[in-house]
Amino acid sequence: MARPAPPVKVLRMTHPEFDLFVIGGGSGGVRAARMAAALGARVALAESAAMGGTCVNLGCIPKKLYSYAAHFSDSFAEARGFGWTVGASSFDWQTLKTNRAREISRLNGIYESLLAKVHVLRGRATLIDAHTVAVGDAQFGAKRILVATGGWPLVPDVPGREHVITSNEIFDLAAFPKRLVVVGGGYIASEFASIFNGLGSSVVQLYRGEQILRGFDAEVRQFAADEMAKHGVTIRVSTDVRSIEKTADGLLVTLTDNSTVHADTVLYATGRAPNVNGLGLDRVGVEQRKNGAVIVHENFQSSVPSIYALGDVTDRVQLTPVALGEAMQLVAHLFTDGTRTISYDNIPTAVFTHPNIGTVGLTEEQARSQFGAVRVYRSNFKALKHTLSGGTERTLMKLVVDDATDRVVGLHMVGTDAGEIVQGFAVAMKCGATKAMFDSTIGIHPTMAEEFVTMRDAVS
Ligand code: FAD
Ligand code: NDP
Repeated sequence: MARPAPPVKVLRMTHPEFDLFVIGGGSGGVRAARMAAALGARVALAESAAMGGTCVNLGCIPKKLYSYAAHFSDSFAEARGFGWTVGASSFDWQTLKTNRAREISRLNGIYESLLAKVHVLRGRATLIDAHTVAVGDAQFGAKRILVATGGWPLVPDVPGREHVITSNEIFDLAAFPKRLVVVGGGYIASEFASIFNGLGSSVVQLYRGEQILRGFDAEVRQFAADEMAKHGVTIRVSTDVRSIEKTADGLLVTLTDNSTVHADTVLYATGRAPNVNGLGLDRVGVEQRKNGAVIVHENFQSSVPSIYALGDVTDRVQLTPVALGEAMQLVAHLFTDGTRTISYDNIPTAVFTHPNIGTVGLTEEQARSQFGAVRVYRSNFKALKHTLSGGTERTLMKLVVDDATDRVVGLHMVGTDAGEIVQGFAVAMKCGATKAMFDSTIGIHPTMAEEFVTMRDAVS
């Protein structure tokens, strides 16, 4: 539950009224501010940290850069089968951190420049009333206020909590963790388990449930976990952490079955909570869920008519393209004809594990409960590259089809570049493509993606 906002100081109004005051310069906030300003609205945006928000600074972008870094260890090994002699290779953590930081600074600059028409304020914003925001010692009037303050990592109250880190700290660890324990079975835990394994850490991933990646297709979960394990990640399921202690040999993690694991670093990736502490939502009467998430109605309007919220702070779909899409809808609603809307159906998503998972639409389990009769098409194969690479990695592709309409309602892949491949198929699914349309599409040969249009026989 969000802490109550601190008492308000008496402040001086120093600025005229804005059409839109955006709190948070992340994916959703920046998009809303710059699109509204481009339409001629008077817009202010307050950001308390680096411009660009979680995705740019502590999420998608640095994570993907580190994922690229981690893939090289496989590439070096695989090159031999193709005739290459690869010299002794070594990985330098400091170089990766420095180069990442340089690229993120460049992106911060780009985000700043995108806001050229926006009045940008650096500092933590607080709601004073339904039309007033305070930043530092100044107050600003606004016709409408947009709360786009994102989320923050949630760490359960486990003994030794003070010794663990979250995804916020992992990118800049002073020393590379030779032994990493990752707690959680979701996107962040699975991605970082794969990344640090690829970079050379010995990784143990602990998950309290029966299989990691709850919410994904059951077969995909099993297949991805098996492939991650083949790459070297030790995944221990149906277990949780009892305590973490500092010892002469790093951190000692004691599990619920009383077994222990030694680690240099323990990463908790156990979900994220809406970032609303001290924002003053309670003071102005904005209704929130138990975890602090702003409850929004049509067009992202909160219970206070002049206050809107979107992105992770609403704790619905925590993905950057969704925050961007929501911002586009809000700006269209407030400043144009309002015809642009976001659809939450068939949101494609990728988990950047090694190998990647790409998925759009329903899992087999969801489709069966929704439609009853479904046909499942599956291809489980060794990619052409691995016939010479010596690699044992396999690829899974799966189509779930509603038997009554022949519509493809679920499309799943575990394999190299799954995210890249699934993006295009997501368009086809939006268009309501049937299995017959997939069948009549000419493949691109030789690719892995062509499997999606050449699966002929249903397996169930
Ligand atoms: P944010 O981007 O979090 O922006 C909120 C901003 O508000 C922050 O900059 C914060 O400093 C600021 N702020 C908060 N409170 C205040 C205040 N009171 N005053 C002023 N400023 C304030 N999504 C994907 O689609 N693909 C991925 O690969 C992906 N990878 C991820 C990896 C990690 C490790 C994490 C943590 C997330 C990842 N995400 C990914 C999710 C994605 O980052 C979020 O869904 C997205 O950033 C949400 O955008 P937002 O605008 O809602 O919030
Ligand atoms: P997730 O909700 O994906 O996963 C949280 C994990 O932590 C789950 O496995 C959950 O278990 C477990 N967990 C929760 N509470 C506890 C607890 N008290 N003790 C032990 N385990 C616990 O959250 P993440 O933090 O991984 O990521 C947040 C969101 O960010 C994602 O949902 C996603 O929307 C977004 N994201 C997107 C990425 C992408 O697009 N590639 C990458 C990274 C993040 P259980 O399943 O049992 O609930």
